[in-house]
Amino acid sequence: MRTRGPITVAAYMEACNSHYYATRDPLGAAGDFTTAPEISQMFGELVGACLADCWRRAGAPGDSAYAELGPGRGTLAADALRVMRGAGFAGPVHLVETSERLRAEQAVRVPGAQWHARIEQLPPVPLLVVANEFFDALPVEQWVGDEQRLVTLDGESLAFVQGGLVVERSPARAAAAAALARHIAAHGGAALVIDYGHAQSSAGDTLQAVRAHRFADPLHDPGEQDLTAHVDFAALGDAARGAGAAVTAVAGQGAFLHALGISARASALAARNAARGAEVHAALQRLTDDAAMGSLFKVIAIHHPHWPVPAGLAS
Ligand code: SAH
Repeated sequence: MRTRGPITVAAYMEACNSHYYATRDPLGAAGDFTTAPEISQMFGELVGACLADCWRRAGAPGDSAYAELGPGRGTLAADALRVMRGAGFAGPVHLVETSERLRAEQAVRVPGAQWHARIEQLPPVPLLVVANEFFDALPVEQWVGDEQRLVTLDGESLAFVQGGLVVERSPARAAAAAALARHIAAHGGAALVIDYGHAQSSAGDTLQAVRAHRFADPLHDPGEQDLTAHVDFAALGDAARGAGAAVTAVAGQGAFLHALGISARASALAARNAARGAEVHAALQRLTDDAAMGSLFKVIAIHHPHWPVPAGLAS
């Protein structure tokens, strides 16, 4: 910025996050934020059960692969695959991840996985996909009227050039959803997309920074805190449908997990280990309560038009 001038919010977010994820494992109590699979094994297990059931109802095609976008530490993949292997799924594992640091974490928990930098590089086979808190990290543009909002250097700190009513758009997210949908429409499969955001497009600035489990100023310490923005599920669905896939209605994470039987799973885990009963119950509340992650976090599936609608979701 000092030599070339202001940059767009999208360019700022992309540059910050690529440095951020390349240089640390941000997840868990000692990091900056905690995701659903890091709260409890129940989350990944139910995602795995949902994908395995969908695969079996599709006729259990033997060439199918598990794929995940932005797998973090690999916790979700490990929990999901344990259930999927038990249900007879024997396919390979393909992870789309740009951070070498996080690829190393994933290698520990998901032995035998293969890595790719882009969705387009996934193999041409039916895919069982999950993307949890992947889309929220992809850059958004912010528009004020017909000007794209810029970030500039103001003395030694950063500042937004334009104020006023902000409208967000994300060509990067739409392109990723379209690439995933194109793949699924061509080769079969289903993808669960889970993220925080809104079901209908609406105006407003949702760019946020999180550091050490607290909200922070997104213009402070560029590249040293997690930058995300609400996912516009309507726009994501439109991009996926435009690329030839079917897209389900949006469900709240709480309703989705309850439909898949999270209460029964919590009871079984608590019964097996009474000392951990309170912890299991707290995790259940955190994942499903409306006051926690139950309704802010949402789920859609992008699936081949001839594949079944994944359980817990409605077409
Ligand atoms: N799904 C995990 C981690 C979410 S954090 C969980 O639920 O715990 C976001 C993840 O997306 C990280 O693994 C990060 O490195 C990855 N990521 C961010 N931008 C990416 C991009 N453009 N391409 C591929 N992976 C990306």
